[in-house]
Amino acid sequence: MTAFWHEPDFDEHELVQLVHDRATGLTAIIAIHSSHLGPGAGGTRFWHYPDSAGGMRDALRLSRGMSYKNAMAGLPMGGGKAVILADATKQKTPEMLAAFGRAIDGLGGRYVTAEDVGMTEADMVAISRETPHVCGLPVEEGQAGGDPGPFTAMGIYLGIKAAVAHKLGRASVEGVRIAVQGCGSVGGGVARLLAKDGARLVLADIDTKRAEALAGELGAEVAPADEILTTPCDVFSPNALGAILDEESVSRLQCPIVAGGANNQLKAAGHGAMLADRGILYAPDYVINAGGIINVSLEYLARREGTRCDVGEVRRRVAEIPARLEAIWQESEATGQSADVVADSMARKLIGRA
Ligand code: NAD
Repeated sequence: MTAFWHEPDFDEHELVQLVHDRATGLTAIIAIHSSHLGPGAGGTRFWHYPDSAGGMRDALRLSRGMSYKNAMAGLPMGGGKAVILADATKQKTPEMLAAFGRAIDGLGGRYVTAEDVGMTEADMVAISRETPHVCGLPVEEGQAGGDPGPFTAMGIYLGIKAAVAHKLGRASVEGVRIAVQGCGSVGGGVARLLAKDGARLVLADIDTKRAEALAGELGAEVAPADEILTTPCDVFSPNALGAILDEESVSRLQCPIVAGGANNQLKAAGHGAMLADRGILYAPDYVINAGGIINVSLEYLARREGTRCDVGEVRRRVAEIPARLEAIWQESEATGQSADVVADSMARKLIGRA
């Protein structure tokens, strides 16, 4: 592995820590990109990487993304991310999670973890036995916290409505044709909210049964997973994988708007400009999908102060997402810079790295 400070994704990260615990087989990387606005917050990914360099790249890239996401969401949190390097059997044991919790605790609150790919709410509970610097824990009804998915979906739904108003001049999504890629926690939630407003939905998931079940529930169409990106529609909403927008896929899109919750949708810098060149309005992923981190950060901050945060406050903050998108699109139109570039520079200004 190249020294991480020579990695193209290294961006003056404040801390990159390798954690190894021989007794439990834990190998993890904890990265804090910026603590300018507060403790580095971001989920833990449990993943089997073909080589450790892949895990390092993810930790560096995702922690920077969290700095941008938290700053743009107006949270008093910096950006961090952890990656547990699973072996090929993807064995996750209580002892391993405990060792990981102790490693987080050793950072004394500089890093706050939450769920990400491969981690569950139960895993967060296990980690919380070793450290208080964890969120996304079960909470009482009416309190901020718990599963971030529904609030992520709510923010994306509001962001799609803003994009439809901005680009198509329509005040409602009724009758608007929206192609949803991924019918999991986020995509499923987005589809349900849009269906209530009378949107015409086309759904796809590599788990066809999942897409069909949701389509049955909502009266939607189903498209094959490998055709959803090229389905003619008003809005393409990616809610599955990252890195789906590249030269080839952008040239094949048949929609005026891309707005969805998948992290890191643009494969590389430059692909946002390609969207703009094609006249496609893009909602920067880390701005539109911040609902979940807003929910769990408010949970964490309240617990740290020994208070509670009402879910109404989460809703109020999530409802600010459309105005942020609108500000990005307006600046993009005024400056000729693509929406992703505008968002990145706004975020960098907020974290003191203009
Ligand atoms: P999930 O695992 O619940 O759902 C993902 C769904 O996508 C699954 O049903 C899966 O079968 C499907 N899928 C995978 N590859 C696909 C493909 N090529 N085509 C179509 N469907 C495919 O995950 P989630 O929590 O809904 O997260 C979805 C995306 O949103 C991820 O990129 C995640 O990083 C991002 N995100 C999630 C949250 C959150 O609160 N859960 C917050 C921010 C961002």
